[in-house]
Amino acid sequence: MNTEQVDVLIIGAGPAGTVAASIVHQAGFKVKIVEKQLFPRFVIGESLLPRCMEALSEAGFVDAVSEKGFQQKAGAKFVKESKICDYQFADQFTPGWNWTWQVPRADFDKTLADTVEKMGVPVHYETTVANIVFNGQDSVTTVEDKEGNPTEISARFIIDGSGYGRVIPKLFNLDRPSTQVPRKALFVHTVDKKRSMADEPNRITIVVHQPGVWIWIIPFANGITSLGFVGNPEFFKQYEGTDEEILRGLIASQPYFAGRFEDVEFVFAPRVLESWSATTDKFYGDGFVLTGNVTEFLDPIFSSGVTLATVSSQTAAKLVIRKLNGETVDWDKEYMQHMMQGVNTFRSYVTSWYEGVLDTIFFADNQDPLVKSQICSVLAGYVWDLDNPYVKNHETALHKLARTITLRDLVAADKAE
Ligand code: FAD
Repeated sequence: MNTEQVDVLIIGAGPAGTVAASIVHQAGFKVKIVEKQLFPRFVIGESLLPRCMEALSEAGFVDAVSEKGFQQKAGAKFVKESKICDYQFADQFTPGWNWTWQVPRADFDKTLADTVEKMGVPVHYETTVANIVFNGQDSVTTVEDKEGNPTEISARFIIDGSGYGRVIPKLFNLDRPSTQVPRKALFVHTVDKKRSMADEPNRITIVVHQPGVWIWIIPFANGITSLGFVGNPEFFKQYEGTDEEILRGLIASQPYFAGRFEDVEFVFAPRVLESWSATTDKFYGDGFVLTGNVTEFLDPIFSSGVTLATVSSQTAAKLVIRKLNGETVDWDKEYMQHMMQGVNTFRSYVTSWYEGVLDTIFFADNQDPLVKSQICSVLAGYVWDLDNPYVKNHETALHKLARTITLRDLVAADKAE
């Protein structure tokens, strides 16, 4: 069997794989990506966060993505009945990017993969990792083409960006059950002809449908809008019919959609995703590092997936370069703990969202502009800024704030009586 020799083998050509490939390639190493599917391919995860722009920029992708003319995103709007809470990234506390994009991922991911290929990184599509044997840090990976023909790739290091494929955790039994409550999404792309009636398209809108159930509205530049309901699987079980009938019924029952989405044309049959949260014991090992969704994916509510995918790859790629240059890397401190700082901050926000704590904060009257700007930074993906008390004290700060708001409202109601 032919054995090809590379410095770094990257598994997966999603945002995690391509960002890592570009940064390691720019440092002069021989890199190769193997990707199971043929691009363009559908994947969900269409609303980006400003923090991912730093990773895309370091990877040299921003110009190529800009040329595609994707919809710019300047904020996030939350809606609950007649109440609206609008976060504008321009108002955020942490210095950094204040905009990003809303992207059909098939097109976005292909743009990143084509760009890294033009830089000189070969991307082998329809090539699936079947097995990996580690010999210390070095490894030999067996990959198969679509006919099942095997070849071997010998590498000094592997970056696993295989997303929901979870290649290394599955091969080496590193997967662990997530602590997140299982949730389900029912979603579709719509031909959004009546979009002008809403103050969009330059933001994501999140609508609280009922406690624990929410809807995303993500308009793209091409007139298509992504629409998805997310909730406990039990919520969906109470409805009968096909996925399309259930989704149309849910749309008809949501007053915020009145006049816009009833009878809207669906671009494809509604899709379902369920129980997507996953985690692993360790994000690294001798000769490999896991990046992107392979590490930990929590929940779609704050659009953190692509940001965590690209930032983990940006961080890991620089550590891999140091390692290959013979330097010592403290993977636990410099990678795992660093990434968990961001993941755990989002975890607190996700938990607070489903507990209703963030409802109290988002839809409060007379919000403190400084506090709002600090929460806005988290929503922009700046979850490593420890100068932000709503990052540093993420486990307690939201509950404290919600209690203060509730108490203030009670006192005001008392006085009014
Ligand atoms: P992927 O984009 O999944 O790429 C991994 C690649 O690896 C794939 O192309 C796959 O084909 C390839 N691969 C898999 N196995 C193998 C193998 N054996 N050999 C070779 N290649 C392989 N994120 C956001 O940022 N914003 C959102 O609005 C958002 N909404 C979401 C909504 C839902 C319902 C869900 C479930 C997730 C959402 N996400 C969102 C998360 C987002 O989908 C992921 O976080 C993101 O795609 C992760 O990127 P990645 O590069 O790690 O993985």
